[in-house]
Amino acid sequence: MFDNLSEKLDGALHKLKGHGQITEINIAETLKEVRRALLDADVNYKIAKEFTNNVKEKALGQDVLNSLKPGQLMVKLVKDELTQLMGGDAVGINLSGTPSVILMSGLQGSGKTTFSGKLANFLKNKKTKNPLLVACDVYRPAAIDQLHVLGEQLNIDVYSDKGNSDAVAIAKAGVAHAKANGHNVVIVDTAGRLGIDEQMMNEIGNIHAAIAPSETLFVVDSMTGQDAVNTAKAFNDVLDFDGVILTKLDGDTRGGAALSIKSVVDKPIKFIGTGEKMEAIDVFYPERMADRILG
Ligand code: GDP
Repeated sequence: MFDNLSEKLDGALHKLKGHGQITEINIAETLKEVRRALLDADVNYKIAKEFTNNVKEKALGQDVLNSLKPGQLMVKLVKDELTQLMGGDAVGINLSGTPSVILMSGLQGSGKTTFSGKLANFLKNKKTKNPLLVACDVYRPAAIDQLHVLGEQLNIDVYSDKGNSDAVAIAKAGVAHAKANGHNVVIVDTAGRLGIDEQMMNEIGNIHAAIAPSETLFVVDSMTGQDAVNTAKAFNDVLDFDGVILTKLDGDTRGGAALSIKSVVDKPIKFIGTGEKMEAIDVFYPERMADRILG
């Protein structure tokens, strides 16, 4: 998970760690390497620049040069900034409403359907939740089947209407079905395309307006490069989503583009996906992740 970023940042900070005394030049050199590590990990250029500027300001403000353990203090400042980059405090999902309605958005292949199953299972395990999954991908019958397979595997009900090509109507009927059958959470899985297209955006915008979710989540494959930021912006413009889900963090991912999303759209990362299995879901804690990245 963020192995590349972790390795590069460690390399950048390593030299400072043992120093009893450092100079302003050491700080400048280190921050240059930190910036390079961020850029190598695909962090957006502007964000990487801001990141190192912030650390520099804090380092000068806290008088790193005269501190007893300047190297360690620098590591702490970078760790704090990384925590901020990833969102600061952890933010949960809003489960208000009866039923609570959660809308999943994102490109095809980002991991929406898999994550819908994971989230339903995660909530079901909380005992007080009885989720319903709703299949709204009217373009790919295989996606509907995929959700049914997950539902059976997890023993979670799935609502679908295979012959119907009206995704908005299916979403509404799904919520009504949940109400009528005592489900207190509805997770609506939607269609994605390989890129942003107007029809998809109109459709998900209309679904959003029709079912007024308490939580709209944007799912992004953390292996995606800089494009992830533009995709997130496009979805956020239409949906003003509430949170980001980073999937495939188990892979050999640079992950920096996904981390940039938080800063660009100013929405918290709420969960991460760390594998194909239904148990591979974790609540995202920025501070813990920063600790992990900086070892
Ligand atoms: P959708 O088109 O957005 O619904 O994407 P899917 O849920 O069908 O996922 C696309 C592929 O990514 C599938 O092969 C999933 O098994 C895989 N996948 C989803 N989440 C993860 C994850 O966290 N880690 C890994 N390694 N694979 C994942």
